[in-house]
Amino acid sequence: MANILLTGGTGYIGAHTAVFLIESGHTPILLDNFCNSSPKVAQRIEQITGVLPKVIEMDVLDTTALTEVLKTEHIEAIIHFAALKAVGESVEKPLAYYQNNVTGTLSVLDAMQRAGVHHIVLSSSATVYGEKGVPPMREDAPLSATNPYGQTKVMMEQIIRDVAVAQKDLRYAMLRYFNPVGAHPSGLIGEHPRGIPNNLMPYIQQVAVGLRERLSVFGNDYPTADGTGERDYIHVMDLARGHVLAVARLLAGNDSFTVNLGTGQPVTVLQMIHAFEQASGQTIAHTIAPRRAGDVASVYADPNLAKQLLNFTTEYSVNDMCRDAWVWQSRNPNGYEDA
Ligand code: NAD
Ligand code: UDP
Repeated sequence: MANILLTGGTGYIGAHTAVFLIESGHTPILLDNFCNSSPKVAQRIEQITGVLPKVIEMDVLDTTALTEVLKTEHIEAIIHFAALKAVGESVEKPLAYYQNNVTGTLSVLDAMQRAGVHHIVLSSSATVYGEKGVPPMREDAPLSATNPYGQTKVMMEQIIRDVAVAQKDLRYAMLRYFNPVGAHPSGLIGEHPRGIPNNLMPYIQQVAVGLRERLSVFGNDYPTADGTGERDYIHVMDLARGHVLAVARLLAGNDSFTVNLGTGQPVTVLQMIHAFEQASGQTIAHTIAPRRAGDVASVYADPNLAKQLLNFTTEYSVNDMCRDAWVWQSRNPNGYEDA
């Protein structure tokens, strides 16, 4: 049982991972600058688990302070979630993205070396397969990126690999998430993006509660079952559980590894709309719109390596994802604001 620092720990995926870590007997410590989250999430985690996790307000760019935290909290592993993640915003503000995500990762690695922490789990993304990847995506595919956000993930991975060559005792797990959706089934924690959502599922959720009028379906002339884009949506509960398995594998003394976390099952935009309508009983107003620049027809995981290394397979269905997203969104239409 270990003390594990979650940078970006009060964010969407960090909060769900904290729940699983607590339920597995670990002690997660959530470090965040709250640029895209609320400290109120800690009370919600307590309501679910009975344990109030420690929250530290800090920027990962503050290497000196971070080093102190690693020492004083006796941290054995870091799960590095902290990053900016909006693709469109990264095109507008590339400096902010490289600074926060790439320099942030350098700072984390520097602090780990100074404090003698040897295990890191990185939030990577299927975006590193770029636009030329052919699904199902395998971990040994060449990496590329089509926007600054994607570039930061490719670079964060590369930096960690290079540092691990030089520091023989560093062990890493790169987790390449496909499309995380859904919420804790209690409806107490979930995702509430600030401003207009970029991603499909939060947009659908906000149409369902009346925050947005209608969804634009970006293209219906792709070579897929119904012409709309297909992705590999993974329930955030499955994803969070994957982190516990990954950190356990590292702490058990195994070698570094890189795995996809996805279901392996593609779902189209229209299939997702219909599943959400069924789960919520709401009608999701939508119109077909032109393709979104930079989008590809189909992205889904080859999930076999995660099965082999972590014995990880997903347990939640698309209907579960929609049901839980609806419970969260309908009970918290403004996210944690009213908490
Ligand atoms: P999120 O925005 O909810 O969580 C990220 C957290 O990091 C936020 O709480 C934010 O306040 C914090 N943060 C950002 N910069 C920081 C800094 N400099 N110092 C301290 N805290 C900082 O996002 P999420 O969906 O939970 O994503 C977590 C990670 O997973 C990110 O690295 C993201 O790129 C990656 N990822 C997410 C998705 C997705 O669709 N959600 C897909 C693939 C990969
Ligand atoms: N999408 C859509 N309308 C939206 C947002 C997304 O039709 O308002 C489509 C998008 O074109 C893609 C799928 O939904 O086919 C998933 O998009 P998202 O941005 O959630 O994930 P990503 O494309 O980054 O995998």
